Amino acid sequence: MADREGLTGIVTKVLGGFFFVYHEGRIYRCVARGRLRRRDREAGVRTSQIVPGDRVRFAPLSLQEGVIEQTLPRRRELSRPLHGDPDRLQVIAANVDQACVVFAARAPDPEPHAIDRFLALAEASGLGHLLCFNKCDLADVSPLSTLYERAGYRVLRTSTRTGEGLDALRRALSGHLTVIAGPSGVGKSSLVNALAPQARRTVGEVGRRGRGRHTTTTAELLPVGADAFVVDTPGVQVLELVHLDPNTVRRAFLEIREVGTQCAFADCRHRQEPGCAVRRAVLEGRIAGSRYDSYLTLLAEAEEGERRRYR
Ligand code: GDP
Ligand code: ZN
Repeated sequence: MADREGLTGIVTKVLGGFFFVYHEGRIYRCVARGRLRRRDREAGVRTSQIVPGDRVRFAPLSLQEGVIEQTLPRRRELSRPLHGDPDRLQVIAANVDQACVVFAARAPDPEPHAIDRFLALAEASGLGHLLCFNKCDLADVSPLSTLYERAGYRVLRTSTRTGEGLDALRRALSGHLTVIAGPSGVGKSSLVNALAPQARRTVGEVGRRGRGRHTTTTAELLPVGADAFVVDTPGVQVLELVHLDPNTVRRAFLEIREVGTQCAFADCRHRQEPGCAVRRAVLEGRIAGSRYDSYLTLLAEAEEGERRRYR
């Protein structure tokens, strides 16, 4: 089986000099070929720069072990400032292509402004527009889910108690490398456990994660299906790493972006400008007032951030 061509796998974890590589339901503990390490060192990067999410070519040595021969080009990177220095970025995962924003139907009760903030950050990162209301056994979220569906988001309703919506969630994650985002206590770990019991995320432990841990702990991919992974980033709320500037905010609300194409001015910020199609849509009830309020709040924050930077 260890033909000369090797296999293509995806790195799920980097630990103690080993790279754990997933291929067809199996995880191989791999080392990187010496040549690869040297080239990395010459390029001024550490070998540990192979990160979870990287796709690699590797030669299996047994059913548990292998050697990475080659890393494949990254489509995208998820980074954070190293030691708080915005000029030095640490890549924590590669090829993440979707966010799933999770809120609870209740306990904690969903707050529209918090939902909008998470969705805007996801959109600004190019991670799509998937929203999941969990704990649907506790309350009816129809009004909220209709609001977001009408705005253009894909809305799922789940319950890890009854199993409602878990198949739909599985389908939504299939073929993607997804970050699960949302406030604590909404059931993110429970959802991952429900999809992949072997992923052994600790329910109720998230609030404690990251504390006392070394800040350079990298992400880990948890397989949640045949071709689906969620990214577990200890102590890092991935979407908080996103920077919002005013132009990004203008594009980060799906329905506001769409209606905004009809404003009189191309650079309309949808406040008091004449001929603003967004304000008209809000007045006519086609855009929800809560969404518009969230937009104005995020826009003001982004403008304030910009003023501080250029001062
Ligand atoms: P996280 O902080 O978002 O990862 O949330 P957890 O997965 O730790 O769950 C927080 C609490 O909500 C735990 O007590 C879970 O048992 C509970 N929980 C998770 N999913 C559901 C659900 O679908 N329905 C109900 N009623 N409780 C849930
Ligand atoms: Zn406008």
